[in-house]
Amino acid sequence: MQRGLPAKRAIPNVRHVLLVSSGKGGVGKSTTAVNLAVALAQEHRRVGVLDADIFGPSLPRLMNLRGEPEVSSEGGQLVPLTNYGIQCMSMGFLVGNEDPVVWRGLMVMKAVQQLLYQVAWDPLDILVVDMPPGTGDVQLSIGQLIPVSGALIITTPQELSLMDARRGVNMFRKVDIPVLGLVQNMSYFVCPKCEQSTHIFGTDSGQQAADRMGIPLVGRIPLDAGICTAADEGVPITVSHPKGPEAQVYRTLARTI
Ligand code: ADP
Repeated sequence: MQRGLPAKRAIPNVRHVLLVSSGKGGVGKSTTAVNLAVALAQEHRRVGVLDADIFGPSLPRLMNLRGEPEVSSEGGQLVPLTNYGIQCMSMGFLVGNEDPVVWRGLMVMKAVQQLLYQVAWDPLDILVVDMPPGTGDVQLSIGQLIPVSGALIITTPQELSLMDARRGVNMFRKVDIPVLGLVQNMSYFVCPKCEQSTHIFGTDSGQQAADRMGIPLVGRIPLDAGICTAADEGVPITVSHPKGPEAQVYRTLARTI
């Protein structure tokens, strides 16, 4: 426990919390979080996803879920919505998908606390938390409020994304959260015609950055039209093509961490 901070409080019914984080927005953090969650469930874990991105929730779209969660009669807790066997909770269920959230810090923190502690999860082995991008107040508070088993940092091979990933690693180290590794998204593109693999954004930058940070590179995910369309259609590729090579990449990641 850090000096001057209250003790962390566990989320009821949750064994392990896995944070999926990124320094930058748009690097594929949410897509990775959701596919990893499905892959973990395919490995026989009971899995939930908490979308902690208050300002830009994407879980409703990615999991094809809509509607307001019920409130449980005992305790007045929010009941997660479930699809593809994954329990889900998101601010997007509460405010509507396209309504902007224009709250000040205090309101945001209240919402985060509600999402952390007032959800009636059925017992979970792993709660995957899709973190907001960056290293601000909300990210830090989540790290300080709940016990976390580990964090994954999602990045693309581009230098700008890697630079921000380093900030993320440093933040987690400050709040004593083990960083399980770096996941390099959009690592390579396999031509559907000739099957040649091209490293569009650079070859080894993720590995080099991980080495410098002293953390493992735990996954390399291809840049793939199928991953993108599947996400847009609300059926993660791990659900639509569970035996395909892309889904296997997420399965390997699920087994690695
Ligand atoms: P973030 O959560 O980091 O903001 P998203 O997961 O919302 O990023 O992804 C941003 C966009 O990139 C989405 O349109 C998504 O479908 C697409 N995307 C993410 N990962 C991949 C990938 N490996 N290949 C192709 N498109 C991807």
